Amino acid sequence: MKIVFLGPPGAGKGTQAEKIIARLDIPQISTGEILRRAIREKTPTGLEAQSYIEKGALVPDDVVVRIVRDRIAEPDCKNGYLLDGFPRTLPQAEALATFETIDAVINLEVPNDLLIHRLSGRRVCAACGYTTHVDRGEDKCPKCGAALTQRKDDAPESVKNRLEVYDKQTKPLIDFYAGKGLLKNVDGSMPLEEVTAAILTALGCD
Ligand code: AMP
Repeated sequence: MKIVFLGPPGAGKGTQAEKIIARLDIPQISTGEILRRAIREKTPTGLEAQSYIEKGALVPDDVVVRIVRDRIAEPDCKNGYLLDGFPRTLPQAEALATFETIDAVINLEVPNDLLIHRLSGRRVCAACGYTTHVDRGEDKCPKCGAALTQRKDDAPESVKNRLEVYDKQTKPLIDFYAGKGLLKNVDGSMPLEEVTAAILTALGCD
């Protein structure tokens, strides 16, 4: 199954994607994760993407479309995949439609005040990528023991920017995919396990 996860930053796309890929045995393709790795490794793509990401702006469409096109051509994607954070603009969605047929689009709906709480308190392990929230009171990564850090784009000014960018550039995709009969709305403000169950039901996989 080829699945797209839509939703504003902080909606829980990454967290839910991990649960769903384990259940469906398909790879997760997170453009944000691929770009952050490229920045860490100082590749040409990483160097190009860095300033956009730190400001909370979108990386140019041609860069992310190329990343996704290359990634889904790999053998582990032949039985499907979950796109987490792509497409994020209409041109990206239109480009995707020229080389792939998507089966379902899950739209995670979360009110703005909860998004801001989640993003501003999010902490990430710099070594292994484990993601948590200050509300959980963890002082280091419970998986590998490394320090927990705040993503630069989770700083207040970037968060504000990212939510505005979402409203202007990504929200139109809701109508785009609804018009194709692919959109399934899921309440992303429920407890984690309930959201996972609702997604599996929406996908017909429960
Ligand atoms: P994420 O981890 O999905 O929140 O993505 C982090 C950042 O990576 C975004 O704020 C963008 O700067 C960049 N990014 C990720 N996916 C895309 C995309 N599909 N199009 C443009 N920029 C992206």
